[in-house]
Amino acid sequence: MSFSLLTIYADLLEDLERSRIATENRVRALRQVKGLAGSPEEERLDSIAMGLAEAERKATNELRKAVKAHPLGEWIGGQLGVGEKQAGRLLGVLGDPALRVDPETGEATERTVSQLWSYCGYGDARLQVRRRGEKGNWNATLKMRAHLIAESCMKTPTSPYRKVYDEARAKYADAVHAEECKRCGPSGKPAQRGTELSDGHKHARALRLVAKTFLRDLWEESRRVHMHDDPHTVGDPAREDEGCSLHGGWMTQRFLEESRRDRSEQLEAMVAAA
Ligand SMILES: [Zn+2]
Ligand SMILES: [Zn+2]
Repeated sequence: MSFSLLTIYADLLEDLERSRIATENRVRALRQVKGLAGSPEEERLDSIAMGLAEAERKATNELRKAVKAHPLGEWIGGQLGVGEKQAGRLLGVLGDPALRVDPETGEATERTVSQLWSYCGYGDARLQVRRRGEKGNWNATLKMRAHLIAESCMKTPTSPYRKVYDEARAKYADAVHAEECKRCGPSGKPAQRGTELSDGHKHARALRLVAKTFLRDLWEESRRVHMHDDPHTVGDPAREDEGCSLHGGWMTQRFLEESRRDRSEQLEAMVAAA
């Protein structure tokens, strides 16, 4: 139950948010058309945008409720700077932080913290560089979700993750480039090896450390929940019907993965038939 509700509302929120933003852009576009600005047509399109915003708010409330009811909800609620909505959107895509479910076979295997980092795009920086025309070997949505959580923690002075950020900034205060850096050089002229990191680069490094620390803590908490009442192997599918509160989600998770895939396959079929 726990992960399926999260996934449903995180997916729904994603769809509604995208539609709402696109519709707001259409309202702006409509205003540029001669004779339509301030017209009843504008008002009607605008009311559709407002309806979507209202639906988005409802989906957000349901997502927050699903996070609160989730076995990881109490821990998330105790993390200063981490919003329930943000965490719900991360977990909705990720599923169990400590468990990897094969979408093809449904087989569940334990995930190490390094595997979690890599999957979220925070693994070995040299291996996780996006090259032109290549698909990255990580989930870009998860990378963004973890980054947004890190940013929010950084902006919360009382968050323990803010301390992680400050310490990283102090540590990187005099950091120099170990390799050429496009980010710090003007276009076409990367910063050379041995030159100091720009302020933006230091900030990004510190935020990266915050994201990794948060993901590690989330992973540890997931493992703790699995082990809480009755120690068992995290990847044990037999736990599905038993006492583990976190385990109860992975079968549904697989089902939801399938329904998502079905949706995109249906779309592809429709496009192919058109
Ligand atoms: Zn740099
Ligand atoms: Zn378990």
